[in-house]
Amino acid sequence: MRLRNKPWAKDFMEEHPDILVLEPEQVKEGWHQLFGNNNPIHVEVGTGKGQFVIGMAKANPDVNYIGIEHFDNVMVSALEKAIEADKPSNLRLLRANGNKLVDIFEKGEIDRLYLNFSDPWPKTRHAKRRLTHESFLNLYETVLIPGGEVHFKTDNRLLFEYSLVSMSDYGMKLRYVSLDLHVEMPEDNIMTEYEEKFSAKGQPIYRLESQFDN
Ligand code: SAM
Repeated sequence: MRLRNKPWAKDFMEEHPDILVLEPEQVKEGWHQLFGNNNPIHVEVGTGKGQFVIGMAKANPDVNYIGIEHFDNVMVSALEKAIEADKPSNLRLLRANGNKLVDIFEKGEIDRLYLNFSDPWPKTRHAKRRLTHESFLNLYETVLIPGGEVHFKTDNRLLFEYSLVSMSDYGMKLRYVSLDLHVEMPEDNIMTEYEEKFSAKGQPIYRLESQFDN
């Protein structure tokens, strides 16, 4: 993703605390209270410009959605889109790193986790940065409810294969695997920005749903 420096990003983010939570660690254990209901909480790590998480929030008003993105310059695009969508009350955006999940959420506080077109980090020495590396799976298992699910889409075959192995080795159950999601195109599929870009080029989209066995 090309990053343009946006010097106004910080001020803009601070102007919208009703949708963008700047200090999410302070909400730990209080996310249901913040949403004002006991609906399930679904989190996307690496939300990018927000198309998926905002689309999901609009399509599923009985689920609370949280999009996490670690770059200010990308997060402001998601924030702009959320404002255009009239700030759905079941949506929050967090400017944070996914490796801080256990500082942000209490054990078992979230119900499902989404990863979409995560950075592939192809070099072996960078494997620990992949969002499906064992160390991240361990964080997800902690913050998810027992038997919580991870849903993952990507265009990157090597990352997909790596993730299948990583999740299986971790003891997760694979509940669904598609090697060409757009052939089946489930009715409720909400496309991410990257999904639109890669599928327009004719590339297959890989998708899996996995579940912790705890
Ligand atoms: N999910 C979006 C989509 O499918 O269109 C964006 C995909 S983009 C390739 C990956 C995004 O994940 C980038 O915006 C990147 O900054 C973000 N990201 C990568 N690692 C992250 C991490 N550890 N915590 C939070 N965001 C992360």
